[in-house]
Amino acid sequence: MSSDVLKSNNLKAEALSLGFSHCGVAPAEPVDEAYMAHYEQWLRHGWQGDMHYMEDHLALRRDPRLLLPGARSVVSLLMSYNPGLEPTQKGIAWYAQGRDYHDVIRQRLRTLVGQTVAPVFTEGEVKGAFRICVDTAPVMEKYWAWRCGLGWIGRHTQFVVPGEGSAFFLAELLLTFEFDHYDAPCYLAPYHLGCGTCRRCLDACPTHAITDSGLDARRCLSYLTIEHRGSLPDDVRPLIRECFYGCDRCLRACPHYRAIPTAVLEFRPTAELLSMSDADWAGLSLERYRQLFRGSAVKRAKYEGLLRNLGRTAEPDDDQR
Ligand code: SF4
Ligand code: SF4
Repeated sequence: MSSDVLKSNNLKAEALSLGFSHCGVAPAEPVDEAYMAHYEQWLRHGWQGDMHYMEDHLALRRDPRLLLPGARSVVSLLMSYNPGLEPTQKGIAWYAQGRDYHDVIRQRLRTLVGQTVAPVFTEGEVKGAFRICVDTAPVMEKYWAWRCGLGWIGRHTQFVVPGEGSAFFLAELLLTFEFDHYDAPCYLAPYHLGCGTCRRCLDACPTHAITDSGLDARRCLSYLTIEHRGSLPDDVRPLIRECFYGCDRCLRACPHYRAIPTAVLEFRPTAELLSMSDADWAGLSLERYRQLFRGSAVKRAKYEGLLRNLGRTAEPDDDQR
């Protein structure tokens, strides 16, 4: 076997030791045509709302070899943000309770590359290349998680790991190296096959955003409270009192969900966030917002967005986030 061929078991063992929950590898090939057709149909419905970046780079989404010239392998990695039975701040979606996952996962993927891939570079010549993708490149990440045999895409359109649920971040590593072994999908098609006749997530969704053809993000509380700029629809306001940044209802309704706590301590909430009361949120100042959410994904909604979700408007001197 060539020394340029990586051992998939070594990579998976290192990934698990770094806090990743699941890891699979697949050859870098074009994404299945039917999957891309389904995605493009979803875009044509306009269900992506204002997330216009999802319409961009379709050619790159279709073929990871255009993202990294010479790519021969795609590694899909999942990292849990499941709080288990640990306390959480009820107003914030689980994934955003701790540190920004982009930073945490990127750092750990660099370490993974350093431990498993970099030794192949050390023979005096550059033999290969890699690319780390953490929500930062046009990769069909749920497709690749399915293709690498880690689970399927549920009716709520999140990725489901059988017997564990959907409380996972997804990331990918593109490599110009081959592996000695590649994984196969556990399900014949990416969508719904593990769901059977279950429709619990549809029943749990208060805005009926989940349809049999996909998710209408424009009705999803997660989209409305995080991505959407401008005012909120009137019928949505009462629904976000329970959780004003994101929404975990469909994730929690899934029978595959288990309260298995993440091993990644950075994703746990700080004592300060846990101590926030309704009165504290009602009086949230810009200074407190910055302090609470330094290094957090919540900053994506910006201060004004959080105030809007809380039913307030920014004070005149709160002109910077
Ligand atoms: S996150 Fe909430 S609003 Fe969005 S689909 Fe799931 S249950 Fe519905
Ligand atoms: S709740 Fe049921 S239908 Fe929805 S993703 Fe989970 S298994 Fe599938």
